[in-house]
Amino acid sequence: MITKIIAEELVHKTKIEIENAENIVIVTHVGPDGDAMGASLGLWHFLMTIEKVPQVIVPTPFPNFLAWMPGADKTLTYSRDKEKADECIQNADLIFILDFNASNRMDKVADAVVASKAKKVMIDHHLEPEHFTNIIISYPEISSTSELVFRLICRMGQFSDINLACAECIYTGMMTDTGGFTYNSNHEEIYSIIYELIRLGVDKDDIYRKVYNTFSADRMRLMGYCLYKKMKIYPEYQAALITLTQKELQEFNYDNGDAEGFVNIPLSIKGINFTVFMREDPAKIKVSLRSQGTFPANKFAAEVFGGGGHLNASGGESYTTLDEAVRKFEEALPLYTEFL
Ligand code: 5GP
Ligand code: MN
Repeated sequence: MITKIIAEELVHKTKIEIENAENIVIVTHVGPDGDAMGASLGLWHFLMTIEKVPQVIVPTPFPNFLAWMPGADKTLTYSRDKEKADECIQNADLIFILDFNASNRMDKVADAVVASKAKKVMIDHHLEPEHFTNIIISYPEISSTSELVFRLICRMGQFSDINLACAECIYTGMMTDTGGFTYNSNHEEIYSIIYELIRLGVDKDDIYRKVYNTFSADRMRLMGYCLYKKMKIYPEYQAALITLTQKELQEFNYDNGDAEGFVNIPLSIKGINFTVFMREDPAKIKVSLRSQGTFPANKFAAEVFGGGGHLNASGGESYTTLDEAVRKFEEALPLYTEFL
């Protein structure tokens, strides 16, 4: 039994917008992850089935381990295909904003989307959405945007328009945003939805292998290097930090997505409940934060690195040197002991 979580009015309004739309664009966040791609491509397949021809636009490339996803090859990457993407956004009469809730998470796509006269619908599960869309379908208690896309399609009475490709994308997003159903995954209806997806033909074991067991040897060596040489433990703060410089990334032939998941690893150490990973990108330091239990990774991300996210999984950025970002982190740790 799957309960009605999305408000009826939002379902109704979205259905009308879809019916009336000729040109639909789907935009997701910079550095798209499994849920961003799962929700976007899941919705894309559904819309294709009902004879709309939407365009998915990702601000920056998706990681290689998601390239197998059906429809991934039809996406436009803004950082490579700006002109074509801008044209799609200009001609759009409906834009879906998926898996993020603040316009700056669209990176360089933001200007075109914000300027567009298209109706905009946000479907997302992050706390405190910005109000820049006409319809906001925001349910932070749901563990993935992909699950929300499934729920929306069902509530529009169109379950029969979910084909296998759509189901595979939705499953991928649900799986990746819960770490393979190891966190944020106690809501029993997740498993009712998986039951439906498997009935549609999803091979969940195969999807797991495609997403998690396709790493390069370089990535495995980079992971080993991080754990052996780069992991710093702060026992008094139940915290761990891993950093990687540009030079180190280059030494291991870093490819998009190669450091995905590194931030989670120290959480499997007994007594560690907060972990941070910093990657030195050419223009900024990308910071990923994870926690277990009640430690507010999102508060730390917002207050120290101008970011945000979920209680246990957040991100931010630092426009400083890596050393300076580490210093900010170490200075902030003692201020959060009340949450340990
Ligand atoms: P990741 O560490 O995988 O990049 O991000 C984890 C989560 O943190 C994302 O799902 C997103 O909710 C949030 N997040 C990541 N980067 C940022 C950021 O720069 N700003 C905000 N507000 N949230 C972020
Ligand atoms: Mn998500």
